[in-house]
Amino acid sequence: MKITLDNIENLAWEKMQNLIPCIVQDKTSGQILMQGFVDRAAIEKTLKTKMVTFFSRSKERLWTKGETSGNTLDLVDISTDCDADSILVLANANGPTCHKGTTSCYNSAESSDFGFLAELEQVIASRKNAAPDSSYTASLYAKGIKRIAQKVGEEGVEAALAATVKDTEELKNEAADLMYHLCVLLQASDLNFSDVISVLKQRHKK
Ligand code: AMP
Ligand code: ZN
Ligand code: ZN
Ligand code: ZN
Repeated sequence: MKITLDNIENLAWEKMQNLIPCIVQDKTSGQILMQGFVDRAAIEKTLKTKMVTFFSRSKERLWTKGETSGNTLDLVDISTDCDADSILVLANANGPTCHKGTTSCYNSAESSDFGFLAELEQVIASRKNAAPDSSYTASLYAKGIKRIAQKVGEEGVEAALAATVKDTEELKNEAADLMYHLCVLLQASDLNFSDVISVLKQRHKK
């Protein structure tokens, strides 16, 4: 159930003794960023300000994530689980969410497969400002959009050929080349995978 200002009272407040756990997930990568507790007022403030706000049990007051660090969480969506005793927030993070300086409070070594694509995209984006001889990606940006577009074309053909001759190992490698170069092409055009996924989502609705 999507939470709105009008249905906050429908959550399992009594069962949870007025504090409900709230998991924050990154909108782009799907990475779990942190977990906190919310009361009614925290949800109201989150909905009104669009900045994710918890009830801090240590501070014993409302706590807007990033209120001192500036590392706020911009609300995208807030909803409950099946029996309304747990909350999931989708957010866009401004800076690291953990006060220890990491993106997430949960620092497992492995990212989800699709989440890794978001991580890779961030690294590829960061190479835009790097010196051309410092990395292959930086050198690609320096060569310009035509060369990058040409690489995407080549890798697309190579992937297609590998599939045609049923060379699955080669297909995996060429598909990886294609996805990497497509990411660089999108970045060079000031676009990202989310922009493309929005189009796919729109089509899916029809
Ligand atoms: P901030 O909300 O980022 O301005 O941080 C203020 C204080 O909240 C920090 O000094 C920590 O005590 C605490 N804090 C910040 N981020 C987290 C987090 N992700 N999990 C738990 N406590 C946090
Ligand atoms: Zn539940
Ligand atoms: Zn943390
Ligand atoms: Zn290739």
